[in-house]
Amino acid sequence: MPPVTVPPTAAPLRLDLSAAALIHNWRWLAAQCAPAASCGAAVKADGYGLGADAVVRHLTRAGCCDFYVATWAEAAALPADTPIAVLHGVRAEDMATALAMPNARPVLNTPGQVTTWRAAGGGRCDVMIDNGMSRLGLSADDVRDGMLTGLMIDTVMSHLACADEDSPRNAAQRDAFQALLPGITARRASLANSAGICLGAGWHFDHVRPGLALYGGMPRPEAAGHLRPVVQPMAQVLQVRDVAAGATVGYNAQWTARSDTRLAILNAGYADGYRRGFSNSGRAWIGDVALPVAGRVSMDLTAVVVPTGADVAEGDWVALDFDLTQAAAQSGLSPYELLTGLGARWARHWID
Ligand SMILES: *Cc1c(COP(=O)(O)O)cnc(C)c1O
Repeated sequence: MPPVTVPPTAAPLRLDLSAAALIHNWRWLAAQCAPAASCGAAVKADGYGLGADAVVRHLTRAGCCDFYVATWAEAAALPADTPIAVLHGVRAEDMATALAMPNARPVLNTPGQVTTWRAAGGGRCDVMIDNGMSRLGLSADDVRDGMLTGLMIDTVMSHLACADEDSPRNAAQRDAFQALLPGITARRASLANSAGICLGAGWHFDHVRPGLALYGGMPRPEAAGHLRPVVQPMAQVLQVRDVAAGATVGYNAQWTARSDTRLAILNAGYADGYRRGFSNSGRAWIGDVALPVAGRVSMDLTAVVVPTGADVAEGDWVALDFDLTQAAAQSGLSPYELLTGLGARWARHWID
């Protein structure tokens, strides 16, 4: 018997992704720091859920030449000529991969990683200093004790804990970082993420590493009006149904029709990252008609109300409201979680 071949099928849900908006956002961030500091791009977690490969391709075209991933698996999944820094550094079990990838360097975080890298004869590397976040990085004492002597350091960096707030910790972290720099031989210094860029020139040093803002997330009020949305989730209508007044919708009957109502059942749910927080609060759009979510978002499906007079048919595509600031408030999640939670079932469709 011949093997059964399943023809490829178009996904019933897709992300419309704007390369023009992505590039616009990178250019705006880069312009805030130019000419003193260059601008890279964090593309960890598969480009914050958009697809790291495509993000790298578009931003390389725009002139970006530094990309940050978390792990060596993420680095190895990108084209071999991508300039990459691996934020989690290098473990013994990464060493073969790390040494085989001249385009990628580790961001060394611990005394153990420094020792491992030296012992393996590793070349150029980055170094992370922890000074107030208590997450990853070498301490100021490690630096003073000479741990970095002789390393070929490209970028020495630290990371701000509260850059999205007006906190005295921002200046404290910056000053502590600044104070260490004279004792470190490195090509350049880097502190700011997206929010740190908005804090101003005093935080930019030689290089910045935005992530969220590239993808349309609003890191701080200073960026309002300057960043464009990049991600538009689109879901196809699987069924249109009319229910009578008094009918309830979805799990646990959390929505009741007050009058005879037309519903559209959409092909997206919380397993796709369209989270339960959108239950009875999210909205879809067909043209300029709003379709409010009715009842609980299910794993793979969401019901929306079709207002009287609106024209929605099985197979139509609707746009889900996904303004990251508003969606974060509705869902109780951060914009980072909303983006990185967009699942594998969305077809990722770059529209321009
Ligand atoms: C993720 C990350 C960034 C980017 O942060 P955003 O807040 O998304 O701009 C920068 N630097 C480090 C070390 C990171 O882990």
